[in-house]
Amino acid sequence: MPCGVCTRGARYAFAGPAGERVLRCTRHAIVYPGVRDRALQVAAVVGLVLFAINQLDVVMQGGLTAVVAGKIVLTFAVPFSVSTYSALQVSRLG
Ligand SMILES: [Zn+2]
Repeated sequence: MPCGVCTRGARYAFAGPAGERVLRCTRHAIVYPGVRDRALQVAAVVGLVLFAINQLDVVMQGGLTAVVAGKIVLTFAVPFSVSTYSALQVSRLG
């Protein structure tokens, strides 16, 4: 079965807005609105909490360096990745 957007094989299935079955390859599953938007919400909430726990004091003391900025990016990237991975695992075909 092909992806609903490109010619690659579908690896994931989602429920569409009208309840229809939406098929996507890996590349298009990652950016599928339901997966992407939920991952962004999770990253915003969880990332903000982790940022406050781990880096807020450093930033407030003026210690924002390139290394700290990189850690802040990872602080938001990790929950985004975990949410996306989890959503894709439960939507896998076969
Ligand atoms: Zn595709």
